[in-house]
Amino acid sequence: MIADISPARRAISYPQIMPLPPGSRPPEQSKPARTGSGSPRLGTFGELALLRMIRLRAAHSQSPELQLGIGDDCAILRPAPSEELAVTTDLSIAGRHFRLDWHPAESIGHRALARGLSDLAAMGARPVGAFLSLALPADLVQNPKARSASTRHNSPQGPHAERTKQTIWLDRFLDGFFALAQSHQLPLAGGDLSESPLAVADVVLTGAVSQGRALLRSGAKPGDLIYVTGQLGGAAVGLEHLTALAAALKRERSRQKASPIPPIPPRLKALLNRHLFPTPRVAQGLWLARNSLATAAIDLSDGVSTDLAHLCAESGVAAELDGAALPFATAATPAQVLNGGEDYELLFTAPAAARIPSSIEGVPVTQIGRIVAASKGAAGEKDATKGSTGKRSARPPGSPIASPITLITSKGAVRLTPQGWQHFS
Ligand SMILES: [Mg+2]
Repeated sequence: MIADISPARRAISYPQIMPLPPGSRPPEQSKPARTGSGSPRLGTFGELALLRMIRLRAAHSQSPELQLGIGDDCAILRPAPSEELAVTTDLSIAGRHFRLDWHPAESIGHRALARGLSDLAAMGARPVGAFLSLALPADLVQNPKARSASTRHNSPQGPHAERTKQTIWLDRFLDGFFALAQSHQLPLAGGDLSESPLAVADVVLTGAVSQGRALLRSGAKPGDLIYVTGQLGGAAVGLEHLTALAAALKRERSRQKASPIPPIPPRLKALLNRHLFPTPRVAQGLWLARNSLATAAIDLSDGVSTDLAHLCAESGVAAELDGAALPFATAATPAQVLNGGEDYELLFTAPAAARIPSSIEGVPVTQIGRIVAASKGAAGEKDATKGSTGKRSARPPGSPIASPITLITSKGAVRLTPQGWQHFS
């Protein structure tokens, strides 16, 4: 299943990959403050150049809250006195969250960061600092034929930039990671790197949010209306096409045909990009927090049927969805709209009297349903949770409510079973 597994032979470690202070001299002529192992073999295989490259690229963005970076044991973050820090962490594992033989390296870097940014967006938090730890097979970290790669890192590359075949995988991963980070003025504030038989990216993000204004999952109340940003199911459509392309490519290779692989049509590229390069709704989350209109929010990483159920569980409520109101992404099926993961849109609730605009920061907003008491669903159906009283005090916070979502269609009302994203397992 995973193409690039090699035995772990050694570990390299650099606990800090701190951004340089503005105006400071790039570290081309200086050694890193610390390499962890101190092994002279690091230089032999080019990891020092790799470290310098990452630190140089990390210097492109700064945030005022990042007080201390380079050369010490920890980063120091200082949010404004009126703000709180929001922290989120996401693991991206080869074979589980991405496929090395399917996903372009730029996409893997982008997606690893997009997951955390989407979580910050769901809290209404402004991105402050990123921490990236990578465990990678050796052939993804270095390529003896591409020693010149470390000289090309002064100019940021977009995720679709043409690169040579010899560009190392990590270089392209960082292209995707930093392109998204820089679009949010998000500095890389630290990280770690180790050789590993399995490719893993661990991203920790910190964000700042005004005290008491963070958007929580737990504030939805019966009578609130449910909204989503953007369209739903697009990432699932993209993954479906990516899967088909990968299967076709595998068949071609097994036949050992010399004919070139046909180029991907532009329309298909657009569909694929909903999966390969999703857009976290950071600006929309900030808008919601700033305007104090939302009672609860969550990002759609696992699909509406799962993520809305999470919100209902935390709020102690149930929900009714209007099937006809759901914003379908291009070519999406009802199942993809309801259960497709990784759209990274925001789902939020607001009182019926709140004036929610038809778009927020350029992204459409659609009302898709309403919050109801947990003790009843649509059309008089009773909640499937035995013993439920519908009172929040009767259920421990976060405990699941069986089938909390009712989908209303022209054919009637049906209970919606959470069938969210199961990754590549
Ligand atoms: Mg989330």
